[in-house]
Amino acid sequence: MKVGVLGLQGDFREHLQTLQSLEVEARDVRTIDQLNETQGLIIPGGESTTISLLMERTGLMDALQKKAREGFPVYGTCAGMILVAKEVTNYRKSYLSLIDISVRRNAYGRQVDSFEADLNIKSVGLFRAVFIRAPQIERVGAKVEILAEHNSLPVMARQKNILVSSFHPELTGDTRIHEYFINMIKKEA
Ligand code: GLN
Repeated sequence: MKVGVLGLQGDFREHLQTLQSLEVEARDVRTIDQLNETQGLIIPGGESTTISLLMERTGLMDALQKKAREGFPVYGTCAGMILVAKEVTNYRKSYLSLIDISVRRNAYGRQVDSFEADLNIKSVGLFRAVFIRAPQIERVGAKVEILAEHNSLPVMARQKNILVSSFHPELTGDTRIHEYFINMIKKEA
């Protein structure tokens, strides 16, 4: 099993390091051929506008959308969550539209307003989460399972093969969310 991390922009190296620390084969993905070598993909935090432009340019937007609609596991964190959401309420309509949630970009404030919080995550447990200019999940469809909340708002959710979190699990040294995603891939395989 090989796990991909979209390596166009953002903090993909930290995700690769986390995966490698779990002794999972991992690679950065910048082309469709590289995507096709993997059994699941993490879309990291960064700038959703920049990542989306590069995904369009490389053909990865269409290729990933097609694969994910056929069951390929995708985990979008922060900017990655914006890219997989069905609706981005304060920007353009949507990008990949893979999970039935509406998100608001930068809803948790500017860079200076980044914060940490202890979450109780379903099937994971207590987890210290880092939020950086995070998007907020404003609406969750009936088929979406909420895995964690912060101040009564969802911050981690899943719909079948699509996992999202508004926070960055790769910055804390805690590998349990990556393990959760690896288990999703194993079940899909
Ligand atoms: N604010 C960024 C965006 O809108 C997301 C921030 C992040 O990924 N840490 O794309």
